[in-house]
Amino acid sequence: HTRILAGLVLGAAAGCLVNYLFVGVGADQRPVVPQWLRLLNQNVTEPIGQVFLRLLFVTVVPLVFASLAVGVAQIGSVGAVGRVGGKTIAYFLVITTIATVIGLVLVNAVKPGEGLPPGDLAELQKQFATGAGERKPAEYTVMSFVQSVVPNNPFRAAANLEMLGIITFALLVGVGLTKLDAHKAEPVVRLLEAIGELMVFIITLAMKLAPVGVFCLIFATTSQLGFALLGLLGKYVFVVLLGLAIQGGLVLPALVRVLGGYGPLTFFRKARASIVTAFSTSSSNATLPTNLRTAEVEFGVPPRIAAFVLPLGATMCMAGTALFEGVTVMFLAQLMLPEPMALGQQALVVMLCVLTAVGAAGVPGGSIPLLMLVLETAGIPPGAIAIVLGIDRILDMCRTTVNNIGDLSAVVVVARSEAGHAASVPPAP
Ligand code: ASP
Repeated sequence: HTRILAGLVLGAAAGCLVNYLFVGVGADQRPVVPQWLRLLNQNVTEPIGQVFLRLLFVTVVPLVFASLAVGVAQIGSVGAVGRVGGKTIAYFLVITTIATVIGLVLVNAVKPGEGLPPGDLAELQKQFATGAGERKPAEYTVMSFVQSVVPNNPFRAAANLEMLGIITFALLVGVGLTKLDAHKAEPVVRLLEAIGELMVFIITLAMKLAPVGVFCLIFATTSQLGFALLGLLGKYVFVVLLGLAIQGGLVLPALVRVLGGYGPLTFFRKARASIVTAFSTSSSNATLPTNLRTAEVEFGVPPRIAAFVLPLGATMCMAGTALFEGVTVMFLAQLMLPEPMALGQQALVVMLCVLTAVGAAGVPGGSIPLLMLVLETAGIPPGAIAIVLGIDRILDMCRTTVNNIGDLSAVVVVARSEAGHAASVPPAP
């Protein structure tokens, strides 16, 4: 984290300095970038940055497919276990949807992505117009929606990054796996789990490149655009953090108060160890052991409920991530798209954020590849993720904390509602 932050700060400082010294403003308000700087960015910084981004992007299709199919296969068997599973998943979906809506309301109110001078905007659009994101925003008719949701060829859907089609196919495979004989389904589930883990390995590798990648990306952008963009980024960070504070500091404690029986102060005091672990590791998976201990020792949750709700939560319940994704998509849409996004499209964004938050791996930066896919679907060049990647570490720490507060609130709420039926608790998966 420190090195990535250093990459960000140094890259932004060097970029702004170069911009200040060598870049002027033309009569048409567009920045006048000297030839050598263009060449430097085109041949050195942008290619290095692209290697980093492409390594993340290459994981997207296998990761989405494998993690969603496995997730649904698990939900299927959870569904069979009945009440507790149903309640847990309903609670996850409700808090994730609330979080996404909070994010979208804030980002529409503050509009952090508006206000870049037109010349800079054109420059930015040009810079990110290459690569995977050249598709125009789709026109939405009922038939085009059906076609994008129900693929007729999974490989074509994958090759064209048609995310809705990939998701549908993954859901179908996941449901199908719950219907197969166990001896046939199990090897497939294990294979899909392994594919998911392999993709996480590649993401970890890409993250090793992150300090240099982030330096290059932020240098390429700021050296040509200067401070204007950094000001907007500040507003964006503010919106994400405000949204997370509302979700983690108001919505979840209120739910715990009403449904779980703990006041906010007691809840946070008991949850302290989990909060510190989530914040410092940026990983829901890494926080799982602490969460289990917190639930059982601090909140007195029966171990079987904790062992049932929390592992599911670590993979499926990422309300902070969904909020962050929604704000980021809208921020980049405000920045890059000529027209504001229609309400219907924003509803689609909410749905995609909730789904991809379910599919995101609980590791540092786990949601980034999925977020790129949401961008692609919304007609925004996914490479534009580079604009926010540099500051993502701090956002990741905060959203992971909110993800884990959500998991703990779920286990407390479910345990309380189950208090009367202790005997019918399902076995740990
Ligand atoms: N780091 C997050 C988590 O583990 C996932 C993400 O949003 O990148 O919960």
